[in-house]
Amino acid sequence: MLAFLVLVTVALASAHHSGEHFEGEKVFRVHVEDENHIRLLQELASTHEIDFWKPDSASQIKPQSTVDFRVKAEDISAVEDLLEQNELQYEVLISNLRSMLEAQFDSHVRATGHSYVKYNNWETIEAWTQQIASENPDLISRSAIGTTFEGRTMHLLKVGKPGPNKPAIFMDCGFHAREWISPAFCQWFVREAVRTYGHEIHMTEFLDKLDFYVLPVFNIDGYVYTWTKNRMWRKTRSTYAGTKCIGTDPNRNFDAGWCVRGASRNPCDETYCGPAAESEKETKALANFIRNNLSSIKAYLTIHSYSQMMLYPYSYDYKVTENNVELNALAKATVKELATLHGTKYTYGPGATTIYPAAGGSDDWAYDQGIKYSFTFELRDKGRYGFTLPESQIRPTCEEMMLAIKHLANYVLEHMY
Ligand SMILES: [Zn+2]
Repeated sequence: MLAFLVLVTVALASAHHSGEHFEGEKVFRVHVEDENHIRLLQELASTHEIDFWKPDSASQIKPQSTVDFRVKAEDISAVEDLLEQNELQYEVLISNLRSMLEAQFDSHVRATGHSYVKYNNWETIEAWTQQIASENPDLISRSAIGTTFEGRTMHLLKVGKPGPNKPAIFMDCGFHAREWISPAFCQWFVREAVRTYGHEIHMTEFLDKLDFYVLPVFNIDGYVYTWTKNRMWRKTRSTYAGTKCIGTDPNRNFDAGWCVRGASRNPCDETYCGPAAESEKETKALANFIRNNLSSIKAYLTIHSYSQMMLYPYSYDYKVTENNVELNALAKATVKELATLHGTKYTYGPGATTIYPAAGGSDDWAYDQGIKYSFTFELRDKGRYGFTLPESQIRPTCEEMMLAIKHLANYVLEHMY
């Protein structure tokens, strides 16, 4: 009997990641001091298949920073030799990515269907959007804002008590396919909204006075691909004539300083900005929805991972926003509130100086449309697990983020414009 159970468990675990296995792959963290170090890493990236986790590409490495990247098993000794010969300080964040990926599914919740404390595949999330809307018709309505490159429907949930001319907060999750904690948060938020409405005074007030638009997964094709073929996929799945490489970085595809810096014109790169701004069907759908609802949308929130940050515009330029002082104070108060639950520290600031310049991001674009409260969140963690954050951290990550979102919602209500 025990043997049988073990076999079943093994079968279930391996069913989670067909395709690439990542056996023996490592994730390194290198401490970069000067331009010389940056050049070495860029050289390394041009001669080996390096997957950058933080920053997003070799071109975004800054002096006095740390760089996290994944290395294929066969390249590990070459990478280690180069780092040691040049006396770069480094540590191994993940010594075998395959075991780390298996350890993600540690929630021990026995659920075949949807669960808020597990990572759900797209099929399950899609069914959930339908179910939660039909179970809460007084609070949630579901609509479609477009379809993805591969033809999947982009479902949007509108969460709030119906009423005329309500202001709204827009929130999306799942821009980058491998950042699984992000869609988990959007689902958690919707559940908390319907669970606490009428019982908790703040949420009740928010949903009475505001609508939340929640897009649970923006890059659905990419997300599906991380479940079926390659857990480490980041981009969309679009194809273009003239290249065999697939996908565009959706957070480089918005019409905000499009492709001027921190983005690549090479379709094979992870930060490819696409052949044109809004070339991706997903980008176009989201941008159209926001353009059509600009009179009501007062805040734009986009949820990524990892590194525990709260960022605001600009990222496409080093210039500061007109309400920079206000955004800084608001971010400071929000991350302080977030930390009250588990002591988790988020850093904050304008994107370009706080992480690195990157053009074509949705937060900058939304801000330039006139949405003056526009933020990018980078959820847990700071690199211990990175994109392989275990399911046991979904609850605390989402609980503390709820405090942040509620703080923001309260602020927006008190500073209506
Ligand atoms: Zn991201």
